[in-house]
Amino acid sequence: MSYEQSHLYRLRHSAAHLMAQAVSELYAGAKLSIGPPIENGFYYDIDFPEPFKEDELVKVENRMRELANLKQPITRRVVANKEEARALILNGHKPEDEPYKLELLDAIPDGEEVSFYDQRAIDKQGKERSFVDLCRGPHVENTSEIKAFKLLSVAGAYWRGDVKNKQLTRIYGTAFETKDELEQYLHNLEEAKKRDHRVLGRELGLFMFSPRVGTGLPLWLPKGATLRHVMTDFLQKEQVKRGYEPVVTPHIGNIKLYEKSGHIQTYRDKMFPFMEDEEKETYILKPMNCPFHIEIYQAQMRSYRDLPVRYAEFGTVHRYEQSGEVTGILRARGFTQDDAHLFVTPGQLQEEFIGVVDLMQTVLKKLGLKDFRARVGTKDPGSDKYVGHDDNWTAATQAITDACDQMQMDYEVSPGDAAFYGPKLDLMIKDALGREWQMGTVQVDYNLPERFELEYVGEDSKPHRPVMIHRAPFGSLERMIALLTEQFAGAFPFWLAPTQIAVLPIADRHNEAAIALSDRLKDTTYDTRALRVEVDDRRESLNKKIRENQRMKVPYMLILGDKDLEAGTVGVRDREKGDLGAMTVESFLSNL
Ligand SMILES: [Zn+2]
Ligand SMILES: [Zn+2]
Repeated sequence: MSYEQSHLYRLRHSAAHLMAQAVSELYAGAKLSIGPPIENGFYYDIDFPEPFKEDELVKVENRMRELANLKQPITRRVVANKEEARALILNGHKPEDEPYKLELLDAIPDGEEVSFYDQRAIDKQGKERSFVDLCRGPHVENTSEIKAFKLLSVAGAYWRGDVKNKQLTRIYGTAFETKDELEQYLHNLEEAKKRDHRVLGRELGLFMFSPRVGTGLPLWLPKGATLRHVMTDFLQKEQVKRGYEPVVTPHIGNIKLYEKSGHIQTYRDKMFPFMEDEEKETYILKPMNCPFHIEIYQAQMRSYRDLPVRYAEFGTVHRYEQSGEVTGILRARGFTQDDAHLFVTPGQLQEEFIGVVDLMQTVLKKLGLKDFRARVGTKDPGSDKYVGHDDNWTAATQAITDACDQMQMDYEVSPGDAAFYGPKLDLMIKDALGREWQMGTVQVDYNLPERFELEYVGEDSKPHRPVMIHRAPFGSLERMIALLTEQFAGAFPFWLAPTQIAVLPIADRHNEAAIALSDRLKDTTYDTRALRVEVDDRRESLNKKIRENQRMKVPYMLILGDKDLEAGTVGVRDREKGDLGAMTVESFLSNL
């Protein structure tokens, strides 16, 4: 049963109505518009006469509880025609008091059933309390079913989502079947807030944003840049093992290239404004790397013996996301894809595709992400945002599902989630709080090779057309770092941590020994890279230094004092287990 058909969905819809009833009682002149259930709760958009503040939510919530306890039966009522509906909406008010509901009524096609939901009861003082709302339903049967609910936040929302319209107040809430489920959800929300990569990114010194730079354009700080290096270094080594070759391409390119690829026709609304130079040539800031890699492929004659060709680039691209949709580095306007394009013969397609999925699985495992599932994004038959012939799409989709079957990998098909040039396989990752993220992607593409007339000389000495695979195991560095930050609440696994070890001299007289220890550690290789070590020689108390490094989620602190210098040991502190006692540097290193 889908969520839309579930009791929970009806319950949340009824909770939205209950909130609207409470608001109507509490705020004379508040005009209601729409109030649907949504993924994790519900909202209602309301036009308040005075600005509504978040601290008023408690008041509304209390009134909701009182109304729920009146055990109002919720009944459906179908009216005969729009006049009757109009009268019911106005209920003695003037049309200007109910502009939104009347507009909604007008939008209902003639001849279609118009229904209302009605909830009413007599309260202890003998007064009738009632609420009637134009609504398609369905709802639960009685307000007493709405037991576990909470109002969460307030936001602005334009009527009908149009910035030219009036901005209304959107009140978000949630409801669950049981109090336990509600508690669990609220707990997860709190956890998610603590793990928010935008907050942790700043606290841990990973990245920043500046209004002087621009919306959605991150500036990477030393710790974040280090994290990126560790990740790219790891992936690069894996790729070299698997026969990838590095390439580097520019940030801008002539628009003609992107006209040929089809980006301009299908991708324009996601692109930054174009640039024109003195010779009247138009350039664009690249939203994807593919056309450049295609140019490199095409620059020389290719024989079947040269294939597969695998070009990899950590390519920074820019996409013009709507400012309201920009979310930290999860959805930024500039980001770096761990991109690669494989040019293969049709006969090599399946094996190469499986090789790519294997690489993606290796990457996720290394990053400590085990809970993932596969989704095959196919073309939406009703949409015109795709390029290429149907048989190309069929062949590409078949190649993906065949490869999944051969790997015995379960997948789910999602129509409309394809790239504009071909279907794709996405790996969806569930994080520590059960939220799902779309990460690595691999796409099979017959269309760009056709548009660019790509060729290789086959065994029969005749020209043939290669197939392209586009892939990005991280998705992008930004997306993956956002996920990892929230997954680990900033406590990255040891191999990834920007600072792996902090050396803490207790007093100034231990600084020299601390620096010597740090130098020695930096000469030590861990996981193919030198250990990343910092000496915290600030003139602060040891406690403060420990607190600070703990807050920065440094995996190990090595503390150096008089006793240690005498005994030739260090005091080891683990960010999870706390004090591990004194040990020699050798035994610390062998325990790593
Ligand atoms: Zn409704
Ligand atoms: Zn591509």
